[in-house]
Amino acid sequence: MPHEIRLSPALEEGKLLTHALESVLKSYSFSSFSIGIRSNDAALKAAYREQLQQYVSAAPFWKSKKPVLDAPHVHVLLDVVLNAFVVDIFPQIIVGRYCKLQRGIAQTRHFCYQCKGRGKWNGKTCEICNGEKILTKDSVQELIAPFFVKAFSAKEILFHGAGREDVDVRMLGEGRPFALTIENPFVRKVDLRALEEKINEALQGKVELHALAFAAPDAVAKVTQAYHTKRYRALVHAEKPIALEKLHTHVGNKADVVQTTPIRVEKRRVMKERPHWVVLEKVVPKSAHEVEIFLQTSAGCYVKEFVSGDEGRSVPSIAEWLGIPCVCKELDVLAVEESERMF
Ligand SMILES: [Zn+2]
Repeated sequence: MPHEIRLSPALEEGKLLTHALESVLKSYSFSSFSIGIRSNDAALKAAYREQLQQYVSAAPFWKSKKPVLDAPHVHVLLDVVLNAFVVDIFPQIIVGRYCKLQRGIAQTRHFCYQCKGRGKWNGKTCEICNGEKILTKDSVQELIAPFFVKAFSAKEILFHGAGREDVDVRMLGEGRPFALTIENPFVRKVDLRALEEKINEALQGKVELHALAFAAPDAVAKVTQAYHTKRYRALVHAEKPIALEKLHTHVGNKADVVQTTPIRVEKRRVMKERPHWVVLEKVVPKSAHEVEIFLQTSAGCYVKEFVSGDEGRSVPSIAEWLGIPCVCKELDVLAVEESERMF
């Protein structure tokens, strides 16, 4: 959403009052803009349009700014009806990829589902979040936000991931694509390479950002709506000794997997049976009860459930192949890969 500033009056005896407009916009460093006029009177509208265009082309303030039709940094609307300038400061969009090198970090901040972030429930301290209001200690979003807020002199940032991994899952390799909406930025020209280096140094061992780039507003939808196949490393723990040959027979084959919404996310999502696929790529024995497996999966496949079987909600599963109860003890996303059309 753009940040809106209203400046009134904009007109006096048919003449533009541009002093307040310039003094407000002076504090923003922006390079592109668009202008518009709202009036119920077509003739009046045309007259003001001419006056506004003359002003913009003559005033020194606008010399270095470029008028554009698409995705301006700033939109100035002369509202003749309200006798006001309505200025929209559009967010800056940044795209990139993030790695999460440590377990226990969420992707974004999660408010407590019981007290909805109030910290109190039924007049007492909420027992779900212990009055903390949020359920996550650290999140990628909160860890990186202060750097962007400072560099862009912005109000806040919104984080949009191309899907998400669980809090206890690491995101390794080249990272996961994300987009940031930087709200109400006073600064637009930022050296993203330098910012990336600064963030990576400060968050060493926790979070790493790569390939930061400026993007158009539609990048947010592109990032969040894309489907990606993934590669994983999972540490499987079995209740009984593992017969490795039972896994070896599946290595390299594309297995069709039917998954029902897992028990752990049932509260949040509608129950649905979905077709997925998994390729077991490599099996590395760790001990009699533990084996490390490397997988490639379709977008949205639940890997922890593919390991355990989730009480029959993932068919087949590693537990089914081995014929013994198993759990996924550790999980890492190794790659978020090229887009895959699901439908
Ligand atoms: Zn709570």
